[in-house]
Amino acid sequence: MHLDAHIPSGPLADKWDKHRFELKLVNPANKRHYEIIVVGTGLAGASASASLAELGYNVKTFCIQDSPRRAHSIAAQGGINASKNYTNEGDSIWRLFYDTIKGGDFRAREANVYRLAQLSNNIIDQCVAQGVPFARDYGGLLANRSFGGAQVSRTFYARGQTGQQLLLGAYGALSRQIASGKVKMYPRSEMLDLLVIHNRVRGIVIRNLINGDIEAHLANAVVLATGGYGNVFFLSTNAMSSNASAIFRAYQKGALFANPCFTQIHPTCIPVHGDYQSKLTLMSESLRNDGRVWVPKNPEDKRPPNEIPESDRDYYLESKYPSFGNLVPRDVASRNAKEQCDMGKGVGETGFAVYLDFKDAINRDGKDIIEKKYGNLFQMYEKITAQNPYETPMMIYPAVHYTMGGLWVDYNLMSNVDGLFVLGEANFSDHGANRLGASALMQGLADGYFVIPYTIGGYLAQTSFDSLSVDHVDVKEAISAANDRTRKLLSIKGKRTVDELHKELGHILWEYCGMSRNEKGLQKAKKEIQNLREEFWGNVLIPGMDKDLNQSLERGGRVADFIDLGLLMIEDALARKESCGCHFNEAYQTDDGEAQRNDTDFCHVAAWKYTGDEKTPKLHKEPLGFENVELSQRSYK
Ligand SMILES: Cc1cc2nc3c(=O)[nH]c(=O)nc-3n(C[C@H](O)[C@H](O)[C@H](O)COP(=O)(O)OP(=O)(O)OC[C@H]3O[C@@H](n4cnc5c(N)ncnc54)[C@H](O)[C@@H]3O)c2cc1C
Repeated sequence: MHLDAHIPSGPLADKWDKHRFELKLVNPANKRHYEIIVVGTGLAGASASASLAELGYNVKTFCIQDSPRRAHSIAAQGGINASKNYTNEGDSIWRLFYDTIKGGDFRAREANVYRLAQLSNNIIDQCVAQGVPFARDYGGLLANRSFGGAQVSRTFYARGQTGQQLLLGAYGALSRQIASGKVKMYPRSEMLDLLVIHNRVRGIVIRNLINGDIEAHLANAVVLATGGYGNVFFLSTNAMSSNASAIFRAYQKGALFANPCFTQIHPTCIPVHGDYQSKLTLMSESLRNDGRVWVPKNPEDKRPPNEIPESDRDYYLESKYPSFGNLVPRDVASRNAKEQCDMGKGVGETGFAVYLDFKDAINRDGKDIIEKKYGNLFQMYEKITAQNPYETPMMIYPAVHYTMGGLWVDYNLMSNVDGLFVLGEANFSDHGANRLGASALMQGLADGYFVIPYTIGGYLAQTSFDSLSVDHVDVKEAISAANDRTRKLLSIKGKRTVDELHKELGHILWEYCGMSRNEKGLQKAKKEIQNLREEFWGNVLIPGMDKDLNQSLERGGRVADFIDLGLLMIEDALARKESCGCHFNEAYQTDDGEAQRNDTDFCHVAAWKYTGDEKTPKLHKEPLGFENVELSQRSYK
């Protein structure tokens, strides 16, 4: 299969303008004749729904939660990047583009990333116009702070609640369209299947989560903005309902799944503290602007942190990476924290934690300033750990946070299946093998506010559609298949709960496909997940009924998909015989223990095609060409 990313020709900086001019247009009066389905109401989905409805399309929007504004995006903390250069530090579209490409270890498309950097500035203007209360400096300009992998301050923020404020902005725009009748909103609805008819997407099958009814909705195009799949690891910082089912079903219907093994492990999370935990909490990367990461120099040193003098502390990131210090990218910071703990220098009861210390920042700037910047994060930390981070250093450890992998999309954000568009964390597109902090919100909003409104029009304008009704045989078959799967899950009546099996999957993936990987471990994980799959379909216990609110059933369906996705992740990790960004294969490292890429053989997107249950998927490669940046060994020293 030839994977054509449809990257426009011409100079990098002109590609998007040129492409927008070349895209066919739908006449304003004709837009009302098209139906578009958007699944998901996080930043990507809410912004897309609002923008498409504003253009005049008829939009149907679906989400799992009771309100669109409960999407996982509401939890985002630290900020959103843009290259406004308000700080006069020398930022530019080019620098944001370069930092992002390098941050992703040169495994993303130049053209997409450049467009993202260009659009970053529009996003800030759009959100300010909506009333998003970004922090401001003393002169009234929007304030900025730094995030990992950048040497300029380009992150716009609203305390530690940036996602919340951005989502309220997008939700406001969406609500306006719901009120005007251009968006019909379906909360508490879970997409169970994708309708692909004559090789073209024509709708979805959903389950009403309140009464269990399964029904089809038809459209001219479907936009999936269903978020990331970090919960495949059971413990992650993602919202509990974040899942992979929509994109996995699309994969089973022919959409390619790109770079599934690229998972971001965030360095600053509250460490795991017990066996009965089902969720992890992020402490935003923004804290590394002021917090200093350290461990005791001597592994035997068990004194409380405040009693350990400066001379006995190892500020290992500052000494190893003097240029970027505590603000090295996430993959680098996470691996180093693990390394310190593996050397026995970890702190806390489990030994799987390092300190993040604000003492110097408080002495320098005063408690008030620190509280203004991070007050809600400090409060959250204290509520969870019962320790006051103004007085004693935080304890942090890496945890699963974000997935760079997702459905393959071209420059138009369309998958290889006609009419299926994928936005936000659900696609694979812009972050390569490691996402820089504050770039996910930027991408989700760029996709929803500024890319899809153009590219979906280009698709609709050049496509002619057969008429279709819910009585079509393929639609009926899809509904009956969704009913069968639901009944099958309920009929097993085994002995093990969904959560138990999910936790087991998480342990396997964390152990063998987490912060570092090796061939032997991955092979072992493959066998263990295959066994787990058998155990699930033979021995899972899902109580209750289908025609009812049944959260065990919802979770059961999602975990069944997570198990199959786990196998795909392992397959991808096995095939990529190099280290890059988050994918650290122990066999491929530089002399000083950094990820060693192999650009000759692996400078590509790995896009997997489903070939049937329990069959090995087929690998397709999209070669990545770099005309504007030089491939180099990533260095933050
Ligand atoms: C704790 C935390 C803090 C973060 N902080 C930052 C930050 O400061 N800056 C930054 O750039 N990034 C941050 N991120 C990452 C960022 O929040 C996410 O990548 C981003 O919000 C994802 O947005 P999205 O719109 O793609 O998906 P989501 O916000 O995850 O929304 C997914 C939507 O899809 C719906 N959905 C899913 N499956 C189905 C289905 N089968 N049927 C129907 N609906 C479905 C859900 O109901 C939901 O509405 C953070 C992430 C976490 C976990």
